[in-house]
Amino acid sequence: MDIREKTFVDYKRRLDLLKSLKNKIKEHQGLIYEALYQDLGKSKKESYLTEVGFVLEEINLFLKKLKNWTRPQRVPTPWLLKPATSHIYSEPYGRVLIFSTWNYPFQLSLSPLIGAIAAGNTVVLKPSEKATYTEKVLQKIISDVFLLNEVEVVLGGEEASKKLLKQKWDFIFFTGSSRIGKIILKEAVEHLTPVCLELGGKSPCVVESDAHLEVAVRRIAWGKFLNAGQTCVAPDYLLVHEDIYDDFIKSLQQTISMFYKNLKQFGKIIDQNHFLRLESFLKDSEIIFGGAIDRENLRISPTLIKGDLLSSIMQEEIFGPILPIFKFKKKEVALDIIKKFEHPLASYFFTSSKVLQKFYIKNLSFGGGCVNDTVLHLANLNLPFGGVSQSGVGRYHGKASFDLFTYKKSILIKSNFLDPKLRYPPYSES
Ligand code: NAD
Repeated sequence: MDIREKTFVDYKRRLDLLKSLKNKIKEHQGLIYEALYQDLGKSKKESYLTEVGFVLEEINLFLKKLKNWTRPQRVPTPWLLKPATSHIYSEPYGRVLIFSTWNYPFQLSLSPLIGAIAAGNTVVLKPSEKATYTEKVLQKIISDVFLLNEVEVVLGGEEASKKLLKQKWDFIFFTGSSRIGKIILKEAVEHLTPVCLELGGKSPCVVESDAHLEVAVRRIAWGKFLNAGQTCVAPDYLLVHEDIYDDFIKSLQQTISMFYKNLKQFGKIIDQNHFLRLESFLKDSEIIFGGAIDRENLRISPTLIKGDLLSSIMQEEIFGPILPIFKFKKKEVALDIIKKFEHPLASYFFTSSKVLQKFYIKNLSFGGGCVNDTVLHLANLNLPFGGVSQSGVGRYHGKASFDLFTYKKSILIKSNFLDPKLRYPPYSES
């Protein structure tokens, strides 16, 4: 089949679709907030900040920049090849399969979808079956905006996912665990299909003795307990310099008490399995603060525990509102602890010292992160987002999404003027 049959060649159609997607999202904001509340107990404000607002901002960016990005790019030609011009065409792959996950079920479905259709591909989207309310709202919005052969939503669990994977795709975009990521990669190899894998990992957060304590505490508490800790880039564990350890812990407890007064208003754990997994970590830990549990409503209060490298919680990504805290004295020790784990998706460093900032950034491999903040690097659409090694393959968001969902067709356009014989055999010594 000609690849162009499976793509939106027409740039104008892409723009129209983006505009109508934006309008539909605005029209159905009430439904989206209700679904996110039912699935994850998210408040309207948090849902706007981390899901709806993010998606609308990304659509706006594409509406503004797409013309420029789709235009063939002229690049320099070496003098030996002249007279000629050189051009890069950004071409859609064709049929794209997107798997998304449940923790930001709206944003993690639509953000890659925006990039894929703006780049000219058609899409099949498989949202997470665990966010049952949101997947239905997604299906409604998408079926209102797109024709079935442009974007289709497929609902279902493991069986539906396996069936989709058996088909031949031109690109697969996956967000989820490394375990399923490996399955995706194995299946993709069958057809040599390119993939982007957005995975997770244990993201460290270092607080040096020269950090601005109050600000650090607020930003760490916010980033860790957002969505009840079910954020791929949430700080997984803390390393706090021993000189400020006691003050830091005291201040963190006060801040948590101020931020989250009522457990009922705190985010909910997605399902029973994840809840039981997190509860079992608590049984095995020395709790410093928190530890309240509401089994019926799947809620766990923001909890601080003493860091122990041998504990079960340190053997996997936590993905919940429990924060192990380690004490360290020398930066080399902090580095050694972080290096015991696979390359994480994110890392955070709180310090005023440029030397220390450079030390951590240069000596560690991780997808991306912040100095003196948490999570917010992913809110800047100019920063390509993704992991490295075990935390993922590929980058998206903004221009990086456009580049991810297009392949670059390189063309040299040669003039017929000047055709020196020197180029052709038989070659002389000179
Ligand atoms: P998961 O990996 O179990 O599921 C993700 C998707 O894969 C779902 O759509 C699911 O239906 C599908 N799936 C399930 N079984 C499958 C199979 N056998 N074959 C093909 N597809 C299958 O999701 P999870 O483990 O609950 O997600 C949590 C992980 O996702 C964490 O590690 C987290 O850090 C990571 N995550 C990463 C990002 C990111 O942007 N990098 C964002 C959110 C979550």
